[in-house]
Amino acid sequence: MMEKTLVILKPCTLQRGLTGEVISRFEKKGLKLCGMKMIWLTDEILNEHYAHLAEKPFFQRLKNAMAITPVIVCCWEGIDAVRVVRSMTGVTNGRNAAPGTIRGDYSMSGQENIIHASDSPENAAIELARFFREDEIFNYSWAQMPCVYANDEF
Ligand code: UDP
Ligand code: MG
Repeated sequence: MMEKTLVILKPCTLQRGLTGEVISRFEKKGLKLCGMKMIWLTDEILNEHYAHLAEKPFFQRLKNAMAITPVIVCCWEGIDAVRVVRSMTGVTNGRNAAPGTIRGDYSMSGQENIIHASDSPENAAIELARFFREDEIFNYSWAQMPCVYANDEF
């Protein structure tokens, strides 16, 4: 199914000058960019976004790391985009992530792991609404469409 998913380029990615590399991977894969902006993450939005980790000992450390620089939030669209982006991301700890994945290629850390990616279509919808206003997600006609997919796939 045609899906939209959220990717956050984390502060470590801005610090290390890897934003272009990471965005380029999604572009080359054939995902359509439907939204992108640079923002500072507030404590309020981080509490919401990482609520599933609130009881973890590293929660405060993680929140601090996510607010060292602004981040870049992106909306990528494609068929099965949530699963495709997650598989391109690799497992959480960069040291365990397979080579060829973004974390596997660029991260040596369990925390400084380059990007956040939504883990289910349900969470993707919730997370996109958390970071983007409706008018910041763009639906436009995409010239690449017939080259990226067979015409009975979309
Ligand atoms: N994290 C961490 N230590 C851990 C687990 C997670 O610092 O043991 C950080 C890491 O930056 C990760 C984020 O918390 O990306 C969110 O954790 P989650 O379990 O949702 O992993 P993800 O979905 O990002 O792979
Ligand atoms: Mg997660």
